Amino acid sequence: MADAKTNAKMERVPVREQDPKVRAANFEEVCLGYNEAEALEEAHRCLHCKNPNCVKACPVNIDIPAFIAALKESDIPKAYDIISASSSLPAICGRVCPQERQCEGKCVRGAKGQPVAIGKLERFVADWAGEHHLKMKEAARKNGRKVAVIGSGPAGLTCAGDLAKLGYDVTIFEALHKAGGVLVYGIPEFRLPKDRIVAKEIENVRNLGVKIETNVIVGRSVTIEDLMKKEGFEAVFIGSGAGLPMFMDIPGEQVKGVFSANEFLTRSNLMKAYRSDYDTPIVHGSRVVVVGGGNVAMDAARTALRLGAEVHVVYRRSEAELPARAEEVHHAKEEGIQFHLLTNPVEVLAGEDDTVCGIRCIRMELGEPDASGRRRPCPVEGSEFEIGCDTVIMALGTRPNPLISSTTDGLEVNRKHCIVATEEDGKTSLEGVFAGGDAVSGAATVILAMGAGKKAAKGIDEYLRSKNE
Ligand SMILES: Cc1cc2nc3c(=O)[nH]c(=O)nc-3n(C[C@H](O)[C@H](O)[C@H](O)COP(=O)(O)OP(=O)(O)OC[C@H]3O[C@@H](n4cnc5c(N)ncnc54)[C@H](O)[C@@H]3O)c2cc1C
Ligand code: SF4
Repeated sequence: MADAKTNAKMERVPVREQDPKVRAANFEEVCLGYNEAEALEEAHRCLHCKNPNCVKACPVNIDIPAFIAALKESDIPKAYDIISASSSLPAICGRVCPQERQCEGKCVRGAKGQPVAIGKLERFVADWAGEHHLKMKEAARKNGRKVAVIGSGPAGLTCAGDLAKLGYDVTIFEALHKAGGVLVYGIPEFRLPKDRIVAKEIENVRNLGVKIETNVIVGRSVTIEDLMKKEGFEAVFIGSGAGLPMFMDIPGEQVKGVFSANEFLTRSNLMKAYRSDYDTPIVHGSRVVVVGGGNVAMDAARTALRLGAEVHVVYRRSEAELPARAEEVHHAKEEGIQFHLLTNPVEVLAGEDDTVCGIRCIRMELGEPDASGRRRPCPVEGSEFEIGCDTVIMALGTRPNPLISSTTDGLEVNRKHCIVATEEDGKTSLEGVFAGGDAVSGAATVILAMGAGKKAAKGIDEYLRSKNE
């Protein structure tokens, strides 16, 4: 508990950020993170609880008080070792995890003030480790047994990293030309730098001995059966995510100028459409409407803003129900994005050339709670109005692509095409085949995908050991 050196301040050490007016026109990282002095000052706010709620609330159970204790002693390599024993992607998690709902949401310091800035401390340690070329600990001995991992998002990378640490010979098969899943094609550069952060953490996983084969679409280039029967993989982990965008099914949704957020963000992030020196540009709207209220909607809106547009976000519930991280909504507002809450589109309007010229919306009010526990939005009769725009971006959620399930006999999926797998170890209906992350849960979070990858790695290890007995 508290000692003489404990920083008793109720408020956390503020983190430096780019000025909203400046950053609204560039793709540089918004949050600049703590320097060493700031990190040490914030670390001293931790009380080192005997029974730490923060650890229980972390889906990969990082020993948070222990890494903060090492940080307080300025032993940053030790802090990194403690974090990386539980997480293969700390610089990424420190940036994009919804800490306010997980570790920080349960921190005792939050009862009478602000919780310890655990995410920002994790980020500081991971960035320091990257700058000082620290490596994660490799497996002591390889066992030569082959495991295939499908998809190189956080679920696949974590599962692969954990199996490699246990000595397995792991190959990741990735459909795209670049590894990282949503971390490279979805989350924009200004929240998660690709070369400086994501590529480095993927390199760390490679350094554990994991092989990554890009441009391999499982279900097209090769099947799971081929991998297991012809290529000698004794187990397979499916971490193929939920990359299939959903639409509203309203009139006009097919006209030119309507994008899914996935396409819009992939073009900008993966194909670098925002850079003038790349040959894969995207139409720059001047007035853009983004439909949705999650992280994906915020990312699409803030990307469109940086490409020069005036941006309006349309969301059918109220501010309290916005599913995006509070920090992202705050940043979006600071940058000048306009929010139309309790508003739902009913039609995309097209001009003579079949191109978007606006969107017709209806005002909503909140009724009784629905199956999700949130109050159901109901249309207010006669309240329709139009917003003029030249681009509409639909950010309404995604589902797993059915390619793998439709090419793998006996793999059970539910009605939303999510693979059915056990929560404790990711076992599917097929022997030797495990799954986790968005492919199982539907669109969720980086840390939940990592947690599922971790449990599946343990499950695969137990399965393969039991096969040998
Ligand atoms: C724009 C956006 C912003 C987000 N922001 C946040 C955030 O701030 N915080 C947060 O915690 N979460 C956020 N999320 C959610 C988070 O990124 C996902 O929950 C997480 O990436 C899921 O990890 P995954 O490994 O299951 O899948 P993915 O990251 O989707 O990775 C799956 C990989 O599998 C590959 N693949 C698919 N099919 C095949 C196949 N047949 N063969 C081979 N490879 C295949 C895909 O190409 C992809 O690389 C965001 C998501 C998006 C889209
Ligand atoms: S709950 Fe908060 S104060 Fe307690 S150990 Fe975790 S971070 Fe430190």
